[in-house]
Amino acid sequence: MNAEGIYDAVVIGAGVVGASSAWHLAQAGLSVALVDAEGPAAAASGASDGAVSVASKKPGPLARLATASLLYTRDLAQGGPLSSAYHPRPSYIFGTGSAESAAIDALIAKLAQLGTAVRLRADGDATLLPGVGTGIDRVVALEGEGHMPGYAAVQGYLREPRIDRFWPAPVTALEESGSEVRIVLGTQTLRAKRVIAALGTATPRLFPTLPVLPRAGQLFVTDRGLAGQLPGALTSAAYLLAKTTAPSVLPKPPVVIDPLATGQYLIGSTREDHGDPTRVDFETLRELMLRAVEAWPALRARRVIRAFAGVRAAVSDGLPIVGSAPGYERVLLATGFEGDGICLSAVIGREAARMTAGLSPDAALAADFAALSPARFAQVQEGAA
Ligand SMILES: Cc1cc2nc3c(=O)[nH]c(=O)nc-3n(C[C@H](O)[C@H](O)[C@H](O)COP(=O)(O)OP(=O)(O)OC[C@H]3O[C@@H](n4cnc5c(N)ncnc54)[C@H](O)[C@@H]3O)c2cc1C
Repeated sequence: MNAEGIYDAVVIGAGVVGASSAWHLAQAGLSVALVDAEGPAAAASGASDGAVSVASKKPGPLARLATASLLYTRDLAQGGPLSSAYHPRPSYIFGTGSAESAAIDALIAKLAQLGTAVRLRADGDATLLPGVGTGIDRVVALEGEGHMPGYAAVQGYLREPRIDRFWPAPVTALEESGSEVRIVLGTQTLRAKRVIAALGTATPRLFPTLPVLPRAGQLFVTDRGLAGQLPGALTSAAYLLAKTTAPSVLPKPPVVIDPLATGQYLIGSTREDHGDPTRVDFETLRELMLRAVEAWPALRARRVIRAFAGVRAAVSDGLPIVGSAPGYERVLLATGFEGDGICLSAVIGREAARMTAGLSPDAALAADFAALSPARFAQVQEGAA
């Protein structure tokens, strides 16, 4: 901070988006503080899967930003902050029945439009992936994607010593006046020229007009017995549909089976419209387990050692929110990443830092960032008035 005690930027929220933003600000030579109500990766970033997946993104801005973020994540993993967090691995999408097969066709068409970052390696029946369940009609193999646990990415970014840290420190108010923002943390107040608010599901507490809603997801973890058998993530095509379709009309419960670097399997995750991270129930896990065993029968012999839930920050129109906060000139929001925030975090942190430094987003991504602007909600409200 400068001699008057003012930071160039304060980032609120030490999830993967806030940590990436703080790291990028520090790289740009700005003085930066990172504040969290609890601690690093305390919310969604510490209770999620970590698929860095383009395949699962809705076509349009999300798919294009995910492609850019995947490429950039790979760069940051080459000796950079994500070198021990990101692991490349193949991915497989499987489907049974016409609705899932149609979702796979749409996926192939989408990937063809997105360039070569993620390539279709093969499209066939269950024999394409030895070990996959015999009831599966179709499997496609993709290359180019990877896995990155959110907490590991946060740890990687926080190795940067130039980030000042404040936690546990819940921000209770933001007061903007003239050329600075005062960030009130209980009895302490920080001062900054700019703020990035990466608050996840807590966004409406400081920005009540924004339609950010909690969406829970349950997951479970197996023991280490299947190490090396499944070469990459195995995702049901129903999971692709779940990003655009109400859960009640899905043909099958969506499931992702992710082999971890530890030799364990992380299997999830549901999409439930509530914000309770403690709701982990037999009925829901049973459905997930049945679908997982149908897809990868060897799982039947494994032990479940842990089940948990995380809560995603969903936005009413299905797009994240990145841009100037309503009512503020010096506060940038980066929130509402639902089930995509780990994948998007590298590029969002880089561009949030650019915008905070007074620069425009990367020209190739400018239109996609414009689609994420919080101003879209002001337009809706004015239109309704
Ligand atoms: C079950 C599940 C599975 C998922 N799977 C994937 C996946 O495979 N791939 C993927 O890309 N994404 C996945 N996601 C989504 C991903 O986890 C999130 O999009 C991402 O972690 C969001 O990061 P964030 O930094 O925006 O928010 P968070 O990680 O939620 O961080 C917000 C931080 O803000 C802090 N905070 C809140 N209020 C205050 C306050 N007043 N003052 C100070 N600090 C505050 C919190 O303590 C928290 O640490 C999944 C999520 C879930 C729940």
